[in-house]
Amino acid sequence: MGDQLLARHPALDPARQSELIVVIIEATTRFTKYAYHKKKIALVLSAMRHYAADLREAGWQVDYRQALTFQAGLKAHLQENRSKRLIMMAAAEYPARQSQQNLENSLLEAKIQVEVEILPNTQFLAGQFAPAEKPGKKLIMEYFYRAMRQHFGLLIEPNGKPTGGDWNYDALNRKPYDGKVKPPALPAFAPDDITQAVLSEVEQAAPKNVGSTAGFDLPVTRAQALASLQDFIEHRLAYFGPYEDAMSQNEPVLFHSLLSPLLNIGLLEPLEVVQAAEIAYRTGKVPLPSVEGFVRQIIGWREYIYWHYHRDMPDFRKLNSWEAHASLPGFYWNGQTEMNCLRTVITKLLDTGYTHHIERLMVLSNFGLLAGIEPEEVNDWFLSCYFDAYDWVVTPNVIGMGLCADGGQVGTKPYAASGAYINRMSDYCKGCRYSPKIRSGPQACPYNFLYWNFLLKHEARLKANPRMGPAVLGLRHIKPDEREIIQRQATTFITQLESAY
Ligand code: FAD
Ligand code: SF4
Repeated sequence: MGDQLLARHPALDPARQSELIVVIIEATTRFTKYAYHKKKIALVLSAMRHYAADLREAGWQVDYRQALTFQAGLKAHLQENRSKRLIMMAAAEYPARQSQQNLENSLLEAKIQVEVEILPNTQFLAGQFAPAEKPGKKLIMEYFYRAMRQHFGLLIEPNGKPTGGDWNYDALNRKPYDGKVKPPALPAFAPDDITQAVLSEVEQAAPKNVGSTAGFDLPVTRAQALASLQDFIEHRLAYFGPYEDAMSQNEPVLFHSLLSPLLNIGLLEPLEVVQAAEIAYRTGKVPLPSVEGFVRQIIGWREYIYWHYHRDMPDFRKLNSWEAHASLPGFYWNGQTEMNCLRTVITKLLDTGYTHHIERLMVLSNFGLLAGIEPEEVNDWFLSCYFDAYDWVVTPNVIGMGLCADGGQVGTKPYAASGAYINRMSDYCKGCRYSPKIRSGPQACPYNFLYWNFLLKHEARLKANPRMGPAVLGLRHIKPDEREIIQRQATTFITQLESAY
């Protein structure tokens, strides 16, 4: 499958190279499910074709097919080759995993008798070990993460204690960006003939999709993915921790890794990535807080998200615990809004297919949460626009972490914040027509009145959450007449957003 381009794919047993045919299928309908970002389609198709070329060069027999659907391509292959056995790795996404489980029967209905063997997924560490969940007790990310670190021996001393004595260095991380250290240029990979062909196919076949392929320079091979990892470890990891949560108008990537699209299609594996980061610490090249912060993202958050997805599907994407039903504003598709944070982040996203985590969480989904936008619409928008988007990662991050529409299963609190947070962590507010310091009235930052309106609307529920208690206490300082003004302004604003759609 296009997201399983692993150098060590479990079905590719070198001892059986002469007996096996590797089938790789480009399924047209898979690419039309959403108006995916053109750079994402280009990345996946180019990486698939390079993967096939690399396998052929390594002596594998490869049947690379284009078909309307994955099953159509598979059936054609099986009929032509009369194969007796089909070996696959379990899919990362729930719908694909469901169809794998029914595959033997559905092939039989098409009069194709083949034994289907589904191997465990090796792309995620949580597929090999996952901490046990105690009945009736929520397994929060922090304890999941500690158990993963202990099991895989990452940043763990011989006595079993965390390296440096602490599990968490958040207090040293998460500074606003002060411009003192300039982020280095990102590695760029000039498109070769295979990629050039893909780029023109994508522009022709998907003219109405999000974004454009212009300027495409992403890694598309295993060798290029390893070079990207190396570049991050050498040039950006040291500053990853301190500026992890910072946002900057002119520095879209700051010190983030940009490795998610590569991990998500299998060009990199999570263990090799975090081990490379740990070596950088042990050899004195990178300070511990940055390395721990990065390891936490990969074997903490990423694995926890994957684990939650398979635990909570199939109902996950329909959850709507705040009963939010407003439509997604039209500016999410073109960036045309006077709110500078949203305009900057969306414009950047439409261009590149990327924004970093805090922009996804505290600008884009925070707005969706506060404005009461229907979770499934937000989810579908994220799936369409990001170059690293797949159902297993988008749904728990959007429905769970970002919108808390799952009633607080993935996160321990709703990530709701006013303009004060965005002002503290970015320079967006300086260029904005609104003021993050004003709560209501024409100059007020919309995040402000939407935030206080959200707290007023859900006061009873939020009070019950120990992590939201202090925020709700803030309501004491707002007099009844101002509460009314805030609620009226928020309602009018949301109605206008909807009618502009
Ligand atoms: P870095 O900041 O360098 O972090 C390192 C790695 O940690 C990432 O590459 C990623 O693999 C992993 N990671 C960190 N946080 C998470 C997380 N919450 N979930 C999964 N992996 C994580 N990630 C995707 O891969 N695809 C998505 O479509 C996606 N959508 C998101 C939507 C929302 C609303 C939110 C809040 C988060 C989303 N994430 C998604 C998680 C995270 O934002 C991205 O993985 C990260 O921004 C990718 O950029 P990076 O590689 O530069 O990450
Ligand atoms: Fe965004 Fe409000 Fe700041 Fe404007 S003032 S950039 S809308 S947070």
